[in-house]
Amino acid sequence: MEDKSYTDLKILPLIPLRDIVVFPHMVIPLFVGREKSVRAVEAAYNLDKKIMLAVQKEARSNDPFPDEIFKIGTIAEIVQIVKLSDGTIKILVEGKKRAKVTAFLDNPDFLEAACAEIEDIRGGSPETVALMRAALSAFEKFLKLSQRVPPETLLALADINDPGHFADLIASHLSVKIEDKQLLLETPDPRQRIEKVFAMLNSELEILDLEKKVRGRVKDQMEQNQKEYYLNEQLRAIQKELGKGDEKTEIEELREKIQNAGMPVDVNKKALKELRRLEMMQPMSSEATVVRNYIDWLVDLPWKPGAADRLNIKRAGEILDEDHYGLEKIKERILEYLAVRKLSRKMKGPILCFAGPPGVGKTSLGKSIARALGRKFARVSLGGIRDEAEIRGHRRTYIGSMPGKIIQSIKKAGTRNPVLMLDEIDKMGNDFRGDPASALLEVLDPEQNHAFNDHYLEVDYDLSEVVFITTANILYTIPKPLLDRMEVLRLPGYTDFEKVKISEKFLIPRKIEEHGLSKNKITFERSSIEKIIRSYTREAGVRNLEREIAAICRKTAKSVVEKKKRMERTVITGKSVQKLLGPSKFNPDRREEKDETGAATGLAWTEVGGELLATEVVVTDGKGELTLTGKLGDVMKESARAAFTYVRSIAPRLGLSRNFYKNKDIHIHVPEGAIPKDGPSAGITLATALISALAKIPVKHDLAMTGEITLRGKVLPVGGIKEKVLAAHRGRISEVIIPKDNENDLREIPANVRKRIKFHAVSKMDEVLDLAFPGKIKDSPPKEDLKNPGKLPEYDRNQNFPLSIN
Ligand code: ADP
Repeated sequence: MEDKSYTDLKILPLIPLRDIVVFPHMVIPLFVGREKSVRAVEAAYNLDKKIMLAVQKEARSNDPFPDEIFKIGTIAEIVQIVKLSDGTIKILVEGKKRAKVTAFLDNPDFLEAACAEIEDIRGGSPETVALMRAALSAFEKFLKLSQRVPPETLLALADINDPGHFADLIASHLSVKIEDKQLLLETPDPRQRIEKVFAMLNSELEILDLEKKVRGRVKDQMEQNQKEYYLNEQLRAIQKELGKGDEKTEIEELREKIQNAGMPVDVNKKALKELRRLEMMQPMSSEATVVRNYIDWLVDLPWKPGAADRLNIKRAGEILDEDHYGLEKIKERILEYLAVRKLSRKMKGPILCFAGPPGVGKTSLGKSIARALGRKFARVSLGGIRDEAEIRGHRRTYIGSMPGKIIQSIKKAGTRNPVLMLDEIDKMGNDFRGDPASALLEVLDPEQNHAFNDHYLEVDYDLSEVVFITTANILYTIPKPLLDRMEVLRLPGYTDFEKVKISEKFLIPRKIEEHGLSKNKITFERSSIEKIIRSYTREAGVRNLEREIAAICRKTAKSVVEKKKRMERTVITGKSVQKLLGPSKFNPDRREEKDETGAATGLAWTEVGGELLATEVVVTDGKGELTLTGKLGDVMKESARAAFTYVRSIAPRLGLSRNFYKNKDIHIHVPEGAIPKDGPSAGITLATALISALAKIPVKHDLAMTGEITLRGKVLPVGGIKEKVLAAHRGRISEVIIPKDNENDLREIPANVRKRIKFHAVSKMDEVLDLAFPGKIKDSPPKEDLKNPGKLPEYDRNQNFPLSIN
């Protein structure tokens, strides 16, 4: 600062300011508390009311030393002075001139300094005017944004022409740091001062702008909440006006339902507890939906004991007969089961398991049982279930969780004691998600199922009144502990004769009715039914048969509607079947046409019932390879190897050298639609086909066989005889070879089938050969082989005969 700008030197009392910079022209009240300062004010007031105001560098310092005070300050005039009761005073000052403290005087009573006034540098350039305008408009913005500065200030500012004064007025309203304000005070050049003020204004504006944005966002948020609240309230009011859906009444309604549901005490408690939780929640929140859903489940489940059974055994027998043809033994067993239930309600009979191929009437038997008991019927499909949670439900913590299938079907049935059919119990899997079979065990166990625990429900449910019936296609995939709980009733499938009867008595009348036809509009000739059975279906049950009959009814109904048929009555004959259903889907006669070399007919048992298994063997020149094709399982492959070893052991009897295979390739193929085949029961068939191919003797074509073979040519028993025999019957086979140990199974075969098929029960392969190649194979080996009777060739699977499997 140049000394030459000092106009005059004045000795003035000084008060150090703590947190404010007083600019010239500024009128402001000050509270003076410090004794020294009070004395300084008094001294000044008594003199010419002029006082020097300078900012102390450290606000905390109570009695600052001269060098702790900024040298540049403002000379002010004390306009007014008010003494307060506590000894402090309030003064109103008006800033007059910038001044510089040139020296402090040695005054022990108060601070006194020699001050030199600083004149503003005069002379505004056009640039300064431009700056002033820019600053003015920035200040205007600032005014709008900050809302702390009285709007009159803008008017006052607009009137000021003196740039120094202009800058000071703006500076006095800026809420910047004390140091910054001091800097402005120390800038004598008005132009520079405006520049600085302008810069500060702009940064202030930026901050204010940001502040505004943030405030706006917060406000938006709050407004949104308020709006939602308001709308919800309105919605509630509207609903109340309409007299429905009021939250209060919904809770009341639920409470009423809970009280009327007949729940056990602890369930009732749980439901009410959840209801209280629901009451506290925002009705539209997702949490409330979860709780409401849960309460709905509790309320909707049947808790009251089911109605007592109306069981009359005679009537039950009639019902079973009304719904089903044949199945005498099964019906008898069902009646026994029902009688036992009637005699002792407490005694838990075994669980019935209907096992058999699709379409043999398992489901409809279950429905009849329900009808006989006067109970509701429900089904649970277990096929493909791998997750325990599907039986037992998901915990409520999962979004969209639900009770398991058991509880779901109970709810659907609407009573606590339905007949519950657990379908396809043999198709259940298990993996890392838990073992559904063990959950099912708990369901079926009378010791445990009175308190079944579903993960979703969280409360126990009593399943002890439920009559469980299970169904399965095959038995060997059912876990042993489950199988132990059940009494298996086998439904092996129907003969063609039975199918005709079932069609005539049940399927056709039902389908005619379903399609809105009447009995005198359409009749099926027996030959037409037989044609459908033989040429359009190949199954143990009657499901496809039912479908084809439905198709015929549908087509007939259509032509009746289209009035194409003028005839009153449509008679379905064998010929019209072909017209309506198109070319036949299956060749009814499945046996070979004539005796063939290298082909034997086996009997297989699959999930869909018995099957004829055509087995082919071709021998070509080669280097000793055995190839097996036709989707054969491991057991069947081993069975083929055993059969082959047996054939080698009797090679001399077939007129072959012991090493006959070394320069031959053998290919065994079991055709038929790439259906996986497994099991040992094809053993004797494979051996027969092999021998036929090697010895070049044809096999009797209307002969079929089943039986496991040992290396020494023994024939071991197999399963599914009944199904297999029915398949042979369907395939027009006239002779069937079965293992001796299976002879007892023949008793279950319907009499008309037994009449048509000649059975041979055998225990040795020799007997099979006699039947397949009558008189063609020597009984004993040639002489040289007698030395070593029954000696087996070495069986070296790797070296002797690599088994390549395709
Ligand atoms: P599954 O449950 O064994 O697959 P369904 O019970 O669904 O078979 O039976 C298929 C259809 O065949 C049903 O319409 C059923 O009424 C009928 N059906 C099956 N067996 C008989 C029978 N012995 N007498 C009358 N109808 C039968």
